[in-house]
Amino acid sequence: MRGRFAPSPTGYMHLGNAWTAFLCWLQVRQAGGTLVLRMEDVDEQRSKKEFADALMRDLQWLGLTWDEGPDRGGSSGPYTQQERYALYDGALSALQRGGLLYPCYCSRARLQAIGAPHAGERSVYDGHCYGMTAAERAAMQKDPSWRVHVPAAAVSFCDGVYGRQEAYLPRACGDFVVRRADGLYAYQLAVSVDDGMMGITHVLRGRDLLSSTAQQIWLIEYLGYPAPQYTHVPMLIDGEGRRLSKRQQGITIESLRDGGADRDSVLSYLAYKGGLVSERARYPLEELARRCDLTALRQEDIVVDDDVMQAICAV
Ligand code: GLU
Repeated sequence: MRGRFAPSPTGYMHLGNAWTAFLCWLQVRQAGGTLVLRMEDVDEQRSKKEFADALMRDLQWLGLTWDEGPDRGGSSGPYTQQERYALYDGALSALQRGGLLYPCYCSRARLQAIGAPHAGERSVYDGHCYGMTAAERAAMQKDPSWRVHVPAAAVSFCDGVYGRQEAYLPRACGDFVVRRADGLYAYQLAVSVDDGMMGITHVLRGRDLLSSTAQQIWLIEYLGYPAPQYTHVPMLIDGEGRRLSKRQQGITIESLRDGGADRDSVLSYLAYKGGLVSERARYPLEELARRCDLTALRQEDIVVDDDVMQAICAV
């Protein structure tokens, strides 16, 4: 088994990231596999070296060790996406050769206007620029984004928590952006190239990415790699149902550490809240690795206590 934890260094590590990292670690360690740490910093504007360093520091503090990664190398490197641009260019060339890559000149306003009617639904591109002629393209005055034309086909897979999924690509994602107009590579491209080329066999991540999985499987296989098995996991939410996303300045691992929490308390709390252990106790990490039952993961999001620090330290 080759698993991976693939954080974006756009903020400090949050309890929600720690939850996902813990589960990645458990899945791989329980199977005696290899865990890859990959820095997903294709978003050059929002990614910072300071955050990448802090993420590694926090993971180390939590005891969630990895076997290959930016700091320790490995046979599938580099492990930082900004050092993998040549590989993404190679994938774009393969798509180009297959006649699937095309420039899109649609304005933001137009994309918004054709966007999904209801919040929470993904907007699906209508293929407006797909049929443009070479002459029409030559007349355009702006830098295009680049989209991949998806086939009229369905992708199905069995998720470790959410079960059988089936998505008809033109309806589920439509022709999606693989390179942005500002030149940056899109997450969907980078993650597919990386999971394929790094030989990842098991992907475990938050359920917010469940809806991106069909297009990633399609792209990974198009590029000639076997698709991994996917397990999407419920997210941590607060009492009002809001996600503990790192953008909201929620509970960072650093603040828990500075507040005096220790790693076993943090991970034991997560294991109990997530239903992986049945008793609320403080377990050493090695015991958590033995005791936690990943098959007990439920689909519902997990509500954390209002005063997390107090709840973590209570046992
Ligand atoms: N880099 C993404 C994030 O931090 C995760 C990507 C993935 O696991 O596929 O949200």
